[in-house]
Amino acid sequence: MPRSLLKPVLFFDFDNTLMQGDILDEVIEKYSPNEAWRDWEDAWAKGHLPARDCLRLQVENMRVSRERLFGDLTRVRIDPAFVPLIRHILRSNGIDGIPIFANDLRFLANDRLAASFPFYDPACDRSANAKARHLVPYRANRIIFAGDGHSDLDAALAADVVFAKCALANELDARGVAFYPFDALEPVLAYLETVEDPLREPAAWAAEPDEGR
Ligand SMILES: [Mg+2]
Repeated sequence: MPRSLLKPVLFFDFDNTLMQGDILDEVIEKYSPNEAWRDWEDAWAKGHLPARDCLRLQVENMRVSRERLFGDLTRVRIDPAFVPLIRHILRSNGIDGIPIFANDLRFLANDRLAASFPFYDPACDRSANAKARHLVPYRANRIIFAGDGHSDLDAALAADVVFAKCALANELDARGVAFYPFDALEPVLAYLETVEDPLREPAAWAAEPDEGR
């Protein structure tokens, strides 16, 4: 069976993909008592510091209480297309909940934080969370992935259909890999609405992805 006829499965990056803005970047900037986080960020972007080390240094340098951080998180907004997107996913697959594969955070005494990385893979140190590994059990499905960052690249390359913006879009461009550009999630919803029934004629959705946009 061609992969385009397989039942679709969707994977979303979180920061700046499901959410409006990059929450982690914002709280690191807000609660760092000094500018050291910028040096670590630069070293990571240049490939001199693995993502996990960069995140651990940045998070453990922060000073914020659980109450204060959670207070900030109540102001964060999910992309408005996500709610109908999830309704589609639930309706077409009978899923009870959505699996989340994320890094972890613990609150310690004196407003200190500890980061841990349950999905770290040394073979993929561009990301503290080896996202491509989460896709592996779904190879019998048509995998749709949406993301924005350098750390999303391995998962994007392992997916059948990719929605990309920002650094991820640039990386895919540089490799000549086809993807659908997106800003907010509305195009992902529009795409899903056309493929919800995998046995339906596949001609309904409009454009082929841009070749190496
Ligand atoms: Mg992101």
